[in-house]
Order: sequence, then structure tokens, then C-alpha cells
Amino acid sequence: MGINLNYNVSAHRVLHDQKMKDMLPIMRDTGVSTLWLFGYFYGRFESELSEIEKAKKYLESEGFEVNAISIPVGHPGNALDGDISSHTDLTIPDTWHYRVNGEGKNTYFCAAIDDVMIKDNAEAAKKLRDIGITKIFYDDDLRTSSSSSEIGGCFCEKCIEEFNSETGHNFDREILYGILTSDEGAEEIKEAWTDRNCRLVVKFLKEVTHEGLTSGIMIAQGGKRLSGTDIPLIKKEVPETFFRVGEGNFTDEKLNTEEGKKGLIKSLLTHKELIGDISKTYSETTVFPARALSPENLVEKMRIEIKCGLKNIYLMSGVWLIDEPYWEAIKKAMPELIALSEQY
Ligand SMILES: [Zn+2]
Repeated sequence: MGINLNYNVSAHRVLHDQKMKDMLPIMRDTGVSTLWLFGYFYGRFESELSEIEKAKKYLESEGFEVNAISIPVGHPGNALDGDISSHTDLTIPDTWHYRVNGEGKNTYFCAAIDDVMIKDNAEAAKKLRDIGITKIFYDDDLRTSSSSSEIGGCFCEKCIEEFNSETGHNFDREILYGILTSDEGAEEIKEAWTDRNCRLVVKFLKEVTHEGLTSGIMIAQGGKRLSGTDIPLIKKEVPETFFRVGEGNFTDEKLNTEEGKKGLIKSLLTHKELIGDISKTYSETTVFPARALSPENLVEKMRIEIKCGLKNIYLMSGVWLIDEPYWEAIKKAMPELIALSEQY
């Protein structure tokens, strides 16, 4: 298995933006083999479904494999517009609910996993499957927490009520959050809360995975059960799931430090080992905000990931389109990177 280079693009732009069209042969010459079309973002299709279908056919005729990527819960903060502040709608549908943090505040712009959002995402996945999409990646690890060191879950009244009725407790938010964030004791309660969040992620993955369609989850750097992602449980319950590992280090500032590199490698290797199948393991090779990671450092990040044994390299850049200097740098490095991938 050589390197499989992945990137994602907007269907609308593929069809209507000349700059994007001009970039396609450059991407292909660089070695990009798979393009993931923006799918269902924050509860709405990023492009019209008919455009996604048309763009898929067009890109396939241009020689790419085509899948889709969705952002099912949104993201705490703006993770899309890395270039200029445009007008991407980051709100979630009124029928969903924002995840409430331990202090009782809404997390903008990030939904909690509930039955309505699962149903909407499952229907969207079915629509994508019906136009021929066979793989959907779900970005942002379904965000039951804003960072992997923070205890996950939604602390709204309704979610706490559900937890209480499942476990026979009668906690209010303040007491529950106090228990969950205490250093010692109450292990049973902590475990029940964590288990609930991990199971919600699994429930989501089960319901969005239809016949003829497989799903992927993107794990945050250091992502673990505490933050809602239980890789062994996902593998057991939804065995076809694929994974992204190695989030973080999107900027030169981060990647240029020893700590940044070490954190990336440690998290990547931990997740890779738990996944145990390199064909189902993708990197997150991200530049964000636009140009914050130099072309040289993007290549360096690929080098690190390949040395960790990854074969599926997934380039990301929010909704900003990676521009020519980057493709040139990657193209130049490809022979070296392919040779390197054969050693690891
Ligand atoms: Zn809630």
C-alpha cells in the first residue's frame, strides 16, 4: 500500500468556481487520489444535493475517487473560515440543542447528540448514499467535549434528567459537574457519565451507517473515553468504521516546537494501536487558519505521519482552498514520501 492522498472540496465550488476547477489537475498531478465532498454541515447540506451528485460524477470523470465529509455537531468556535471572515452559517437547526457546558452555558456552535440530530444526520447520510456516496467521514469526533482533557457530555437540564433516570440519581448540574470534575472518588458515577457519552457517539455512528455506506469518525488529539470516544467500543459495535488520528499542530507555531511534535506522535500512535488496521486509519494533515502552516511544514507533518506508519494522508484546510505553493511543495516531496512509506 503506497500513500493515498486525500483532500476535501465543496461541490458548489467544483461546479461553479473557476479557481477550483483550475486546481483539480494540479491536485491530481500532486498525487491526490481521493476527494471528499463537503456533505451535511451543522444540520444543512453545504451544497445542494443535486450539486453534490453532479460534482461527484464530474470528479470521477477527472480520475478521482469521491466520498463525502460531514460536520454533524458543528464545532466549538469557528473552525471553517480560516481565511477571511465570510458568511458561513455556523448555527444549528432550532430543533437541535446546543451542548451545555458544566457552567450551564451553551457551547457555540456545537450541538449535543440527541435523537433529533441523529435522525437528521441519518436521513442526510441516506440521501448521500442514494446519490452514490459510499463513505462519509464525520468531522470533529462528534465533540461531546471541547477538548480531550475536558469531561464530555451535555449538561442541559434534559440531558441530566435522562442521566438521572438511567442511573437512579437526582443530581442537578452543579452537583453532578462537581462530582465529575473532582480528583478522587465517585468512580461509579464518573464511569456511568463517560459510558453514556461514549454510547451516544456509538448510537450516532450506528444510525448514520446504512447499507452500502460506511462511516468514519475523526478523533481529536488525545481523544479518549473521557471526551466521548471509545475506539474499542466503536470497533465492536460498528466494525466497518474508519478513523482519523493525529489532530492538532495546524500552525508553524505549534509544529515547530518539540512539544507539538511529541504530542502529535504520541496521540497518533495511541489511536493507531487501538484501531489496529492501517487501511482504516487516516491522518489529519491540516493547515489552519489559511497558510498558518507553511508548505515546508505541511510536508514535514506528512513525513512525521508517514514515519508513524500512516498510509492515508488526509489534507485539510477548513473551507479555504489549499493553494499552489503547497501543491508544488507536496509534489516535489512525493517521491521521497512514497519511498519513506515503504520503510514504515
Ligand atoms: Zn443536552
